This record gives sequence, C-alpha cells and structure tokens, in this order.
Amino acid sequence: MKPLLAIDNLRTILRTGAQPVRAVDGLTLEIQRGETFALLGESGCGKSMTALSIMRLLPDGGDIVQGSIRLNGDELLTLPEAAMRAVRGGRIGMIFQEPMLSLNPVMTVGEQIEEVLARHFTIGHAAAQARILELLAQVGIPDPARRKTEYPFQFSGGMKQRVMIAMALAGQPELLIADEPTTALDVTIQAQVLDLMRDLQRQMDMAILLITHDLGVVAEMAHRIAVMYAGEAIETASREHFFKHPAHPYSQKLFAALPTRHKRNQGLSVISGNVPPLSEIFVGCRFADRCDRAWAKCRQVAPPWTAVAPGHRVRCHLYATGEAQQPAINAFPQ
Ligand code: SF4
Ligand code: MG
Repeated sequence: MKPLLAIDNLRTILRTGAQPVRAVDGLTLEIQRGETFALLGESGCGKSMTALSIMRLLPDGGDIVQGSIRLNGDELLTLPEAAMRAVRGGRIGMIFQEPMLSLNPVMTVGEQIEEVLARHFTIGHAAAQARILELLAQVGIPDPARRKTEYPFQFSGGMKQRVMIAMALAGQPELLIADEPTTALDVTIQAQVLDLMRDLQRQMDMAILLITHDLGVVAEMAHRIAVMYAGEAIETASREHFFKHPAHPYSQKLFAALPTRHKRNQGLSVISGNVPPLSEIFVGCRFADRCDRAWAKCRQVAPPWTAVAPGHRVRCHLYATGEAQQPAINAFPQ
C-alpha cells in the first residue's frame, strides 16, 4: 500500500550561526493512512525541523538541500508555492505547543475558523457559521454559539488547544502534524486533549504525526514510532514492540531514565553527556560519546539499519550481522 507520507533521505540545513547546522540529516520514514506515528526525541534532535520541512515553513536561514517528501505520491518539495499554500491547512493540518502563538488575539475564534474555511472551500457565510459550530462541538467546546464570538484570551490553555485543533480540522486534512501538542498544558488537561485527538483520529481516519519528547504520550497515542537522535532516525517499530524490546542503546536509556514507582523518590536518572553539535560532519555513530557499549568501530563507521524483528529496525552496530554477538534485547523491567 502506498504510504500517505513518505520522507526520503531528507536533509535540512539551518544557516543562522557561524556554522551551518544539519538540523535534519538523512531522515527517511513512512506514515500510513489513518495511523498515529510518533517522532520521539530530545529537544534539538530535529523533530520540529522535520515538521516545518514537511510544511515548507522553515525559519529564515533554513533550507531543504536534499531528499523528497511525498504526500500520497505527490512531491511537496517541488510544488509551486501557491499549490503548497493549499496543502497547508488543507491536506495537512498542524498544531503547535503554544496555541497562543498561532491564534490571532484580535479576532474572534469564529472569525479565525471562518478564515480557514474560506481559504480551502467555496462556502457562503451561513454555511460557514454552521460548520464552525459543528467543528467547535466536535472538539468538545461547550456552548459553541457563544464561544465562537469570543476572543482567544477568553479561553483556558486546554480550550485554546481545542480551538487550534478545530482550525486544523477545518480543512479536512489527511494528515495532522501535532508538535508537542500537550507539553504546555497541565497533566489533567493533557490527558483530555490526547483523548480528543485519539477520538478524532479514529472518527476521521486521519493520520497523525505526533512530535514528542514524552514516552508517556507515545504509550497513550502511537501506533508506530521513530526515535530521532542528532538529526536522524535511529530506531523504528510498532509501539508494542518498542515498549517490550527497545533495541537501540539510546532508546534503552530513555526507558531507564523514566521515573518508576520504586525510583520515584530518587530523582530522574538523566542520560549523561550531550547531543553532539549538528554542525559536525559525523563519521561513526552519533551516539558513540554517550554509549556505554561503544567500541572502536562505532567511531569509524556509521551503523547501518538492521531489522531485529518484522517492522522493527535499528541503526546500531550491535545488531548488524557479523558484528559483536547479538545482545539479548531485554524487556524493560516493569
Ligand atoms: Fe552504541 Fe555503537 Fe550502537 Fe552507536 S553503534 S549505539 S555507539 S553500540
Ligand atoms: Mg521542538
């Protein structure tokens, strides 16, 4: 089956400081129709730059220098800008961590949704008003008739994120990109917004690219996952397989850093060391400086992708054929 979104060997460069930075460096991944795909990683690993590359909304100094991004077979990177504007908010919707940055403070919520509708459909004022009520109800905003006449500052953080979701859904996208959609919300509201996204994803058979640094969010939401490190993907698997058998040493450390019932009072064990600067040209494995299992080859040769199970691939020399004895992939102790 043709994937909904196929990113192939994407490289995005940022020229803002003294050295150009390879924010995304050779990323390849596929998202299927109707699935929730999580891109997991620490901040600065290239997750948001991947999202902005897909939307072709890179900041000044950002440039896609290599690769391909196809939506249902259509190459997005060579689309004329006018056609790309129709893709944004139409075939692909996007929500961000900070809804306040994307909502216009001096327009009512209804006016903002109407603007999106007018951009993507030929729709009269009355039909638009009916559709706005429908969208607000769909995202669980009570009393839509009153709420649509209100301004963003009259909404709580969670309600603002619901408004953003309504705006993102207005164009009936095939793909919703959600970049840390709940990170700015408190825990109870987070859970409600995630529930809403899961329900909508099922109802609308829409794919979601969920960008997060939070394994808990992945556990709740994702069908499949890719772990990103220093601009590239290093492991990809179904959620079930990933949580049972995280294979890459970095993924295993992410699990080890989770607070557990027993460890809760001992504080978070953080992964020691830093992500290498992305201005570097890498020779071996990018994780080598932080990896307890690194050996000479890791610093000399970039590890290839290796399948450790059907649909579960990892980029680490430990698993490559003919290398060090294949380690047992232990389930993370519960
Ligand atoms: Fe560690 Fe080597 Fe695997 Fe990289 S390739 S994660 S350094 S064992
Ligand atoms: Mg980010």
